Amino acid sequence: MISDVAIAGAGPVGATLALALADADLDVVVVDARAAGETIRADRTLALSHGARLIFERLRVWTALTATPGAVTPIAAVDVSQAGGFGGVRLTADEQGVPALGYVVSYRALSQVLDAALARARVAVRFGASVRSVTASGDAAAVEIDEAQDGALRARLAVIADGAASSVPGIGRRRHDYGQVAVVANVALDHPHGGVAYERFTRDGPIALLPQRDRYALVWTRRPADAPQLLALGEDAFLASLSAHFGARVRGFVQISERRAFPLALEVADTITAPRVAVIGNAAQALHPIAAQGFNLGLRDAWELARMIADTPRDAIGSPAMLARYRQGRTRDRRAGIAFTHGLVRLFGNEASWLRVPRGLGMMLLDSVPLAKRAFGRAMLYGVR
Ligand SMILES: Cc1cc2nc3c(=O)[nH]c(=O)nc-3n(C[C@H](O)[C@H](O)[C@H](O)COP(=O)(O)OP(=O)(O)OC[C@H]3O[C@@H](n4cnc5c(N)ncnc54)[C@H](O)[C@@H]3O)c2cc1C
Repeated sequence: MISDVAIAGAGPVGATLALALADADLDVVVVDARAAGETIRADRTLALSHGARLIFERLRVWTALTATPGAVTPIAAVDVSQAGGFGGVRLTADEQGVPALGYVVSYRALSQVLDAALARARVAVRFGASVRSVTASGDAAAVEIDEAQDGALRARLAVIADGAASSVPGIGRRRHDYGQVAVVANVALDHPHGGVAYERFTRDGPIALLPQRDRYALVWTRRPADAPQLLALGEDAFLASLSAHFGARVRGFVQISERRAFPLALEVADTITAPRVAVIGNAAQALHPIAAQGFNLGLRDAWELARMIADTPRDAIGSPAMLARYRQGRTRDRRAGIAFTHGLVRLFGNEASWLRVPRGLGMMLLDSVPLAKRAFGRAMLYGVR
């Protein structure tokens, strides 16, 4: 039997695609390597744009997500500044005319809400099924699953949403290592955060503080050589160092959780289609977290692909013409998101002192020219297009 669509990976992006197709009269099958009910990446924090909220509202999962205690923390304002330099900018939700500039969301809560929504919508998900390879054969893709007794799944279109695109021969990934690591942890203040997020550019690398529940999720970009020492510092010494980097901008750090570090890189699939195959989400592009664009771009991949599938006659799903439309339709958004993020890393991740003046001027300009501020705000809210 040939399904219409087989989705490899029921992470946040693959599950979004499956839910967006749930009301279409299509035979959709989803497979995921994790066990049913298992949450992976439980400690990860996702930064959702206002545009991402709109997608989840349309899929009727936003209410369930916000009803989960501690799952969603709205960002009321974003404060951007640089240590040892002038200029700064504060974007607020009020100015942009939206309820929040974005949302800090727990990966675990989102994953659980999406799994429950898939079950409610009666979308068939095969958990514990790891996709080994996806190849085209005639009018269908063959999706080989590890240890499957009943051979490969066949579908008009196979969508790779496994976070890595490791299973499709012919789709390579280019990796640009930024030579940086992100040190992440949760940090508490001695006063309420008021929903204000901070991005602070320092000699030692940019620091992001994202309000999450009653704490901050900290992402500190550092040189790899600095990380072991930062991870090994005692609590008081770590908090003192964080305070020194923030100066008067944020005071009152009182507690830090366990810290961990991971390398920062840009990974981009060299093409997002192959015969009978489309690639979405992190499998298509994994970005530096500096601009919080990656997850939102992945969600738009899923949303746009769902619209395209729903608008295509069943027999033409996965055809070269449909895949070419998908590839072309995603080119501008992907390029813009990648270029915007890469540009910010170059400008703000670089601690050359000569950059402090143009950076300061840029922030002053943003802060004082309403049109520029609004355009920047819209890029953060809806993506760069
Ligand atoms: C180390 C790290 C830290 C990050 N931190 C942040 C952050 O702080 N903020 C932020 O917004 N974003 C962050 N991101 C990015 C964010 O995690 C991704 O944008 C998001 O997870 C993409 O969702 P996805 O569904 O495409 O992939 P994933 O979340 O990776 O989901 C992939 C799914 O596919 C399944 N799968 C994997 N392999 C197979 C297989 N062979 N067969 C079947 N199923 C399979 C997995 O079980 C999983 O359910 C981070 C990414 C990384 C790598």
